[in-house]
Amino acid sequence: MKRGRFAPTPSGDMHLGNAKIALLSWLQMRAAGGVFILRIEDIDIQRSKPEITERILEDLRWLGLDWDEGPGTDPAGGPYWQSQRGSYYEEALRKLQEAGRLYPCYCSRAELLAVAGAPHGLSSEGAPYPGTCRSLSLEERQEREARKTPSLRFAIGNEPVRFLDGIFGPQSFPPGSGGDFVVRRADGMYSYQLAVTVDDALMGITDVLRGGDLLDSTPRQLELYAALGYTPPAFAHAPLLLGEDGRRLAKRHGDLGLASLRAAGTRPEAVIGWLAYISGLIDRFEPIAATELISGFSLDHVSREPFILKPAHLQQLLTCH
Ligand code: GLU
Repeated sequence: MKRGRFAPTPSGDMHLGNAKIALLSWLQMRAAGGVFILRIEDIDIQRSKPEITERILEDLRWLGLDWDEGPGTDPAGGPYWQSQRGSYYEEALRKLQEAGRLYPCYCSRAELLAVAGAPHGLSSEGAPYPGTCRSLSLEERQEREARKTPSLRFAIGNEPVRFLDGIFGPQSFPPGSGGDFVVRRADGMYSYQLAVTVDDALMGITDVLRGGDLLDSTPRQLELYAALGYTPPAFAHAPLLLGEDGRRLAKRHGDLGLASLRAAGTRPEAVIGWLAYISGLIDRFEPIAATELISGFSLDHVSREPFILKPAHLQQLLTCH
């Protein structure tokens, strides 16, 4: 049986971009008669807020996107909050350590900022880690150890990484792209790459559908799957919704939160219909319930083009009652 998931980070309210991903991943599972899982990626507890999680759950219910496993369901396959899954991440680190794939890194905070908890694609990280701490001698390690608590890095392999993306087609990343990456920060926080891989594997996820900003994180996760002995899921990345400035949707583009659309009287069917339209699932914008999109859904129909959200589009949504 297929198992998919939506995995929001509760550091910001849901906007149309997140809602698009939620809809597509939900449709993928509902069309396949699979199981849809909701996992709260609150690993960065400083930035995550319980009240935002509550609002995300509310927004999903309002849109008509239900989940089979996640907050409020039988906790057997959980916990469904990353903040409660530390023992699984620790166990994975132990395995990687035993396999000789981890090393302590003493590089400065500025360099580590690039691998902060926020799950951005590699393209947003800047230069790949040059491997400074990969082959330190024992003395060098001891000398640095006395001055600084290290982070832990995963030593990537030297083969290219290839996979078939369900929306963007064949992908190939040259050996070493992105460089060795952090799996546990010096302050003890597990990285997005580690947590998401361990969770998807242990939750038996067969199909990951997520935002295109994470496409270049996938080779890292595939390397972790291989090193941990897990079977990887199929991956599909959906194009992002962009603001008029060509940057990914964020608060600076105005209040595009679902809560404010709702407050303005927009119906959930209007939001679903609009998201289905811009995703290439229906030919013109019309209100529609999510359940009506299930039959006939296929990843082949999902548009590969990023969508630039203009004020006129929002107007269209706001005036559709
Ligand atoms: N938590 C991530 C986000 O909200 C998604 C991670 C994933 O789907 O792999 O962007």
